Amino acid sequence: MMSDIAENLTEIMRRITAACLRADRDPAAVRLVAVSKTFPAETVREASEAGQLHFGESRLQEAEPKIDMLPGSLHWHFIGRVQRNKVRRILPRFEMIHAVDSSAVASFMDAIAKELGLFPKVFLQVNIGAEASKGGFDPAVLRTELAGLLALQRLEIMGLMCIPPAGPDAESARPWFVALRHLRDDLERESGVALPFLSMGMSGDFEVAIEEGATHVRVGSTIFGKRTYQMDDGPG
Ligand SMILES: *Cc1c(COP(=O)(O)O)cnc(C)c1O
Repeated sequence: MMSDIAENLTEIMRRITAACLRADRDPAAVRLVAVSKTFPAETVREASEAGQLHFGESRLQEAEPKIDMLPGSLHWHFIGRVQRNKVRRILPRFEMIHAVDSSAVASFMDAIAKELGLFPKVFLQVNIGAEASKGGFDPAVLRTELAGLLALQRLEIMGLMCIPPAGPDAESARPWFVALRHLRDDLERESGVALPFLSMGMSGDFEVAIEEGATHVRVGSTIFGKRTYQMDDGPG
C-alpha cells in the first residue's frame, strides 16, 4: 500500500504533467522541489523512497542536521532568505539558492564562493508585487544592477524567483507569474545573457505557475500536510 506522501507525490506529478500538456510544455522541463521545512528527516526519507529527490529548506539550522542524516544522493534547494553569517555553511550544502535578494548579498556570496572553490547556482528573487513585507529586488533596480550581478565571477545566475502577493485563488497569482516571465524576457534581451529558470508556484498555485513558464515549483503542504508551526520568515 502506498503511503500518503507517495500518493500525494503521484497526484502532484499527475497535475504537473496535465498543466504542462495544457501549456504545450515538456514535463521534463519542470522540477518539483518538495519543501520539507518543519518536517523531520524521516519524512524526507519517505518521500525520497517514493522517488522524490529534490527538497527545499528555508532555515539553515533546521536543514543542516537533516542533510547530514540523509543520503548524499538527495538534492537540496535553499529557499529562505540568505543571511550573510550563514553563507559559508549554505553554499557547500545546497545545489541551488532560490532567494538571492540584493546585490550586496550576491557579491558577498560570490566572495565566499571564491574562497570555497564553488560556483553556486542562484535565482534572483524579485519582489514582484512591491510588497513592504517581502524581500527581493525591485524590478527597476534589478534592471540597473543586472550587469553588475552577471559580472560576478562565481555566481551562476540561473533565473528569477518570486512569491506573489496572497490572493483569493490560484488564478489571482497568474498576472504576477506573467510579470516575472516578462521581466525575465526583458532582462535577457537587454543583457544578451540567458536566464532560463523561473522558480515560481507553491501548493496553492503551482499549476498556474507552470502554465506561465515555471521551471521550478516549490511545493510543501500539498505533499507533506499542514505545517504545525510557521518558520517561513524566521531567521535563516
Ligand atoms: C514554505 C515555502 C514554500 C512551500 O509552501 P506551500 O504552500 O506549503 O507549498 C514555497 N516557497 C517558499 C519560499 C516557502 O517559504
